[in-house]
Amino acid sequence: MPAAKTRILLTREEITQKVEELAGQVFKDYQHKTPVLICILKGAVVFLSDFMRYLQLPVQIDFMAVSSYGQSTTTTGVVRILKDLEMSIENRDVIIIEDIIDTGLTLSYLRENLLSRNPRSLKILALLDKPDRRKVKVEPDYCGFSIPDEFVVGYGLDFNEKYRNLPDLCILLEFGS
Ligand code: 5GP
Repeated sequence: MPAAKTRILLTREEITQKVEELAGQVFKDYQHKTPVLICILKGAVVFLSDFMRYLQLPVQIDFMAVSSYGQSTTTTGVVRILKDLEMSIENRDVIIIEDIIDTGLTLSYLRENLLSRNPRSLKILALLDKPDRRKVKVEPDYCGFSIPDEFVVGYGLDFNEKYRNLPDLCILLEFGS
């Protein structure tokens, strides 16, 4: 991968420690339950795979893909389901696993959509939150880090489908290609 102009915001060690902490919180809240973890593709894949291995509970996983960003770094406000769940979540304890909450448009749409399928409970776990950018009211039940209004890549997050495999979370300083 060509070297991109980036600056590390969160190191892989800091992220790992936080993911383990989050798994501990969820473990306490979901004892004797088998939650369904719904991973929002593609950005939350790395987070899900780390998080679920720290979570000492029986879990099931499923995936949804939505698009709100297109090819740009500003939110368009348009949310489309590109891939839907394979399993029913009726009467299930559901946790949405999201990489980052920015304007909140994606999650507020997803929350309403999933609530209409009658889960027993629905919570949101987001690794990252950019509270300054919020356009609609949606707060994560569990959150890893509040970060400033910068465009970040790595640890699953992309720019034009690149940089997802950077192990640290980095601020993208140049949006060349
Ligand atoms: P929202 O609907 O909350 O504005 O946007 C949520 C989605 O936008 C995230 O799931 C993520 O895909 C994308 N997004 C928001 N901020 C960033 C960012 O800083 N970097 C990257 N790579 N994606 C972002």
